[in-house]
Amino acid sequence: MEQELVNYRLSDCRVFFDFDNTITVGDVLYELIECYSLSEDWIKLEKAWQLGEITTKQCLIGQMKEVRISRKDLSRYLAAVEIDAYFVKIIELLGKVGVTPVILSDNFEPIIQEIFANNNIRGLPVFANHLEFKGEELIPSFPYSNPDCPFCAHCKKTHFIHDRSIEHPILYVGDGRSDICAAMESDIVFAKDTLLAYLNKHGRDCIEFTALADVYKHLKGKVYEPASAR
Ligand SMILES: [Mg+2]
Ligand SMILES: [Zn+2]
Repeated sequence: MEQELVNYRLSDCRVFFDFDNTITVGDVLYELIECYSLSEDWIKLEKAWQLGEITTKQCLIGQMKEVRISRKDLSRYLAAVEIDAYFVKIIELLGKVGVTPVILSDNFEPIIQEIFANNNIRGLPVFANHLEFKGEELIPSFPYSNPDCPFCAHCKKTHFIHDRSIEHPILYVGDGRSDICAAMESDIVFAKDTLLAYLNKHGRDCIEFTALADVYKHLKGKVYEPASAR
């Protein structure tokens, strides 16, 4: 159910976005693993992860081990990734009130940077897992794992829980299991799919969205100008 959490001004917020299936249309990493795995072992890992039998890190390490793709084919693949057109509108809207959104992802930094560059999106801070290219193998590492969190590979909440303040509410937009930690610690949450189901199940208020157009429309109402001040 849609429910507004707090009265807030967008200009006061610290804004964080998930990447896969939030900014992109579809889950880039999932689809990449699906297309370029040597075997179907990744499906077993995915199921075990969904059931909570293995951690996100164990799942990703196992899945990436199976992927074989040349750098050239990866670039070709990433060139076809579609970004929700409203993401650029949201960046512009946030820019008007002096806010830069931060990207927090369980995907890999070079993949995200390449997709952004393909779409002329520059200058956004991106925190994601690391990836090294060794021939056709992709070697992951996880600089933002949290020893206190057994669940996440990239524990997204660590980017704001240590320096948060009431004056600057945390606004988070996401869709999946890897967003749960961050969403539970955020002040304003836009959620869809698995994240939405989890938050609803656990009685945590959030604002439901299906595409970024919904988020844009909501945020536009949070831009307070002197003439329209209530
Ligand atoms: Mg996602
Ligand atoms: Zn976590």
